[in-house]
Amino acid sequence: MLHGYIPPHRFLPYLSWTEIDALPDRENTVIVLPCGAIEQHGPHLPCSVDSVIASGVMGKALERLPAEVRAFALPTLTYGKSEEHLHFPGTMTLTGTTLLSTVIEIGESVYRSGFRKLLFANGHGGQPQVLEMAARELRLRHGDFVVVPHGVSRLPNASSKQISDQEKRLSMHAGHSETALMLALAPDTVHMERAAANFPPPFPIKLLSPDGRPACAWTARDFGPSGVIGDPTSATREQGEEILDTLSASWVQALTELHALRWVVREEPTWGRGHEQGFIQTSVGAGA
Ligand SMILES: [Zn+2]
Repeated sequence: MLHGYIPPHRFLPYLSWTEIDALPDRENTVIVLPCGAIEQHGPHLPCSVDSVIASGVMGKALERLPAEVRAFALPTLTYGKSEEHLHFPGTMTLTGTTLLSTVIEIGESVYRSGFRKLLFANGHGGQPQVLEMAARELRLRHGDFVVVPHGVSRLPNASSKQISDQEKRLSMHAGHSETALMLALAPDTVHMERAAANFPPPFPIKLLSPDGRPACAWTARDFGPSGVIGDPTSATREQGEEILDTLSASWVQALTELHALRWVVREEPTWGRGHEQGFIQTSVGAGA
């Protein structure tokens, strides 16, 4: 079925338009768009990792969410901006401009459907900038739209106590936490016998990078042939389940508080679709 990891009763497209039109309190209902990618994650993980993690974590949170907290998920955006992995077969990437337009147009549709709270739950480290730009654009257009771009794993969870100092500083892709989460969410797709560590050389300019992470732009190929940037070798399913449990508990709290949030409504000016040409829409919520 199309909902995948999302509980069916929290999956917005399973409702008819008349049911959506009749939903109470649409302006405080949180719409979740899990944002993933289809890109290489080393020889030991499938290319679907970021999409599985974004929808798996949000699905678990929505499953545990108290019924009175109104929230629905949209289908996971499984394609993302993955250009740093395009040297590897299996990577299916959009350009940044295509992703930006796609996410803005989905946001406009959410707004047009009467919702005023939208969360981009991002599972891919190569595209937070694009999602932040889309969120800002939607806020410019609609002074009563609350759009939150956030990394799906960037809430308190158990992973930080599971990993080494080196992993904390330098792991960026297909390392311990992603591998552990995949062992919990989609174990049949993980091949631990092929897992091998691979780290970038520490970046030598301390002023630009105190922790040694590359301060320059990079592609996965720059750091070797495997596509891994981190150490997945010690990841276990139990650790993945612990991350999933603690991370989804954090999201239950965040979604609950987002549902209760009463945020600033900007009366005007609201900059409309053509804002780069100086177009000002003078009334808030006057349509997209
Ligand atoms: Zn990933």
